Amino acid sequence: VSAVEVATAHLDRITAVEERVHAFLHVDREGALAAAKKVDDGEITGPLAGVPIAVKDVVTTKGIPTTAASKILEGWKPPYDATIVERLKAAGMPILGKTNMDEFAMGSSTEYSAYGPTNNPWDLGRIPGGSGGGSAAALAAYEAPLAIGTDTGGSIRQPGAVTGTVGAKPTYGGTSRYGLIAFSSSLDTPGPCARTVEDTALLHAVIAGHDPRDSTSIAQPVPDVVAAARRGLQGDLTGVKLGIVKEFAGDGSEPGVVAAFKESLEALVKLGAEVVEVSCPHFQYALPAYYLIAPSECSSNLARFDGVRYGLRAGDDGQHSLEEVMSLTREAGFGPEVKRRIIIGTYALSSGYYDAYYGQAQKVRTLITRDFEAAFEKVDVLVSPTTPFVAFPFGSRTSDPYQMYLADLFTIPTNLYGGPAISVPCGLSEGLPVGFQIMAPTLADDRMYRVAGALE
Ligand code: GLN
Repeated sequence: VSAVEVATAHLDRITAVEERVHAFLHVDREGALAAAKKVDDGEITGPLAGVPIAVKDVVTTKGIPTTAASKILEGWKPPYDATIVERLKAAGMPILGKTNMDEFAMGSSTEYSAYGPTNNPWDLGRIPGGSGGGSAAALAAYEAPLAIGTDTGGSIRQPGAVTGTVGAKPTYGGTSRYGLIAFSSSLDTPGPCARTVEDTALLHAVIAGHDPRDSTSIAQPVPDVVAAARRGLQGDLTGVKLGIVKEFAGDGSEPGVVAAFKESLEALVKLGAEVVEVSCPHFQYALPAYYLIAPSECSSNLARFDGVRYGLRAGDDGQHSLEEVMSLTREAGFGPEVKRRIIIGTYALSSGYYDAYYGQAQKVRTLITRDFEAAFEKVDVLVSPTTPFVAFPFGSRTSDPYQMYLADLFTIPTNLYGGPAISVPCGLSEGLPVGFQIMAPTLADDRMYRVAGALE
């Protein structure tokens, strides 16, 4: 088949199912077909040339609306491409469109999108996870074969888990943040999403690698994740040590999630892996530390949305001062969860409270990193369920923010540490997908792909 035929088939599928799924905020039919034609004309070759992709709307795309699912950026067309988007284009991958998400990537259900939620293709009355619910749902509904997500606390892995797809958070700095709309800069990590481990690795290889335009980008060669995934697919894990975290055990995961996880763990043991229990005593403080660090950085990053530089401007009628225009814009443009984070972050960073909150959280972050380092002296990777519960019904966790935050209980420690982690489907609980998470040491992204491949 030609690249144009592949792109057309996906665009037609989008037309057919979007009314029910709502994975996309913007579809770029013309752009996708033009990119596909270039491949058919032989201008670009390579392993993923002609394979279409969906991109989370927090990643800038030149001339294509990019809103981060916020009213404050409605209609904004970025004047440049994110580095990872440049790489997708250079690889000949037609961009189908921009996917729905929680506003500014804050959330675990896509219910905080200013443009309405995305429905989980497995059960349209349930959430597709978040913040990258649109990318995951687009994969699960066969609207796209590959997608880009960003993971600050779990936003690639948790949507992957609850939609039965694969999502990988690379090592922090392994993929460029240049051109991401920043949420929490010390945590934000773009990464690949797909329906299989091998496809995820192929996309990982396209987007990863040093970028001089991102000061935290790692100037080292990317490990061969594709070879590692293929090695894993051969099904031999002899000598591989899998660590299970003692402290995760009592954390109230749904019984069906625990059962699916244990069954997969046994399958890995049959392939030769050894299971070792490790203790990570500071993981229990990961959630509170994250909910100080991430909102603190968000309060600083989101200061740029002032009604002057981009998107929405409210109160610009000659009756209001500049300061009033800024605050009216922010009042009208930000949704409730974003406002909550800005308020928490501003408070945590304010003089007199900084040491007690932000400073303390940074110390906890160091202790969590040490827990990981100690664990990786004993085991090759850590494994856990990706999220404690399967896709939940809409509205069931929006009234209490803490209930929503619990979705990332098992994913957040990795972000605070900076290592890579992947979620792979591992069966069903009450008919809904469960995810298996594999966490590896920083820069050892290949290691998680090997185990992930074996699990598939
Ligand atoms: N759910 C987490 C939050 O709301 C993680 C979000 C993310 O990874 N972008 O902050």
